[in-house]
This record gives sequence, C-alpha cells and structure tokens, in this order.
Amino acid sequence: MRWQTRAACRDADPELFFPPSEDDTSTIVARHRMAVAPICQGCPVATECLRWALDTGQDYGLWAATTPTDRRAIRRARLAGVPDPVADSDPMCPACSLLFALPAVDGELCPTCRERTP
Ligand code: SF4
Repeated sequence: MRWQTRAACRDADPELFFPPSEDDTSTIVARHRMAVAPICQGCPVATECLRWALDTGQDYGLWAATTPTDRRAIRRARLAGVPDPVADSDPMCPACSLLFALPAVDGELCPTCRERTP
C-alpha cells in the first residue's frame, strides 16, 4: 500500500487507532476517536485509507477516524444505492460502483464491466 508511506499516522502510537473496546458507544472509544481525529483530518491520504478499510472489510480499528460501525453503515448505504461522499467521491463505474468501487471515467463502464458487456 503505497499511500501508507504518506499517512499522517505513520509516527503515531498505533494503539490510539485500536481502542481496547468494540463498543462504539463507550467512553474509551470516544476518547480514542477524539485523539485520532486531528491526525486523520490533516492526513493527505485519508480518502485512500477509508477506501482501503471499506474494500478490505476491516472489522477493527479506527481508519480515517471511522469505527467499524461507521464503515458497516457506509457499506449498507452503498448497497442501498447511497454512495459515501468521501470514499465514493471519484467518478465511478455506474454498473458496479456500489458493490465494487472501481475508478472509471464519469458515466463510463470500468474495464471489468466493459469486458463483461457483449
Ligand atoms: S486517515 Fe488517519 S488512520 Fe488513515 S492513514 Fe491517515 S492518519 Fe492514518
């Protein structure tokens, strides 16, 4: 993952990004979110980070300051036809973008869908 070399968190304490609780409503997760938010807000690769966490189904940790619950909500919304304003901000293939986000020229099919289309 080349984008990780430019991550704002590369010198931060990794434990900040992995709270010792899976309960997103807990105080401890809230504290971790408050600690990582300023780092992620200034991160030049926050979009790539969020896309990677979504695409690889990361079930743990704060990626781009999102919790696993946040990311499940984004994936559910995508399945319902609602793209995420950050992760899906690039032009996407209209045929597959909601399930498999693949970059494409706006309104055109991605290479994979072009191959499938007779
Ligand atoms: S968005 Fe946050 S978690 Fe993701 S690479 Fe940047 S600093 Fe790290």
